[in-house]
Amino acid sequence: MIVADRKKVPEIRDMIKKHKRVLLVGCGTCVTVCLAGGERETGILGSALRMALKLDGHGGVVVDECTIERQCEDAFIDPLALRAEGYDAICSLGCGAGVQALAERFPNIPVYPGLNTQFIGILESQGVWTEKCAGCGSCRLGQFAGICPITRCAKRLLNGPCGGSRDGKCEVNENLECAWQLIYDRAKALGILDTFEELAAPQDWSASLDGGPRKVVREDQCIAGLGPKA
Ligand code: SF4
Ligand code: SF4
Repeated sequence: MIVADRKKVPEIRDMIKKHKRVLLVGCGTCVTVCLAGGERETGILGSALRMALKLDGHGGVVVDECTIERQCEDAFIDPLALRAEGYDAICSLGCGAGVQALAERFPNIPVYPGLNTQFIGILESQGVWTEKCAGCGSCRLGQFAGICPITRCAKRLLNGPCGGSRDGKCEVNENLECAWQLIYDRAKALGILDTFEELAAPQDWSASLDGGPRKVVREDQCIAGLGPKA
């Protein structure tokens, strides 16, 4: 899932306080699962913002809330279209993709981010999410016993550890597991340690963000005659 956390209330208040009517829009997908921008969090933020605006002398700003099932797909934004016309600003509690999808859909309404989008990760334990994938565009998990050194090794080393690991922890941060210790332990348990005798090739970063924003086109899914959306 995409993991995000909420911006602080004063930061959001200061972004929106020049407007008259602001619609907070939550999202029912990733940010609901990571407890940052679902219906519940959107309601709580709405109450906190109204209070913060009033205390700051901007009690006249109207803040309403709603949540749609998904912000990153235009069809799911349809139910919002009529309602959005009644507001002069939107604050999205979707991830960065959701915020930008709303901005594209409503070119005449300012759209502000209510969250800080963090990473692609998993729920590690109740209330704890950890990063697992950097979206490099050329997945090599098959080479590293299913553990990603690009994301989880602090130095992105592809050919073994740096030598600074102690007791399984990373030398950069003692609260982090050393990715290469994890890779070694798992490879040993799987009986595939010998596969690490071959040098791993450098990462092909052209598939990553360094080549500019990426696009996935599935011709077999595009509507006949219309071609992929530009
Ligand atoms: S190799 Fe790339 S795509 Fe695969 S988990 Fe790591 S960052 Fe993500
Ligand atoms: S200690 Fe382990 S995770 Fe940390 S930088 Fe070195 S090899 Fe990578």
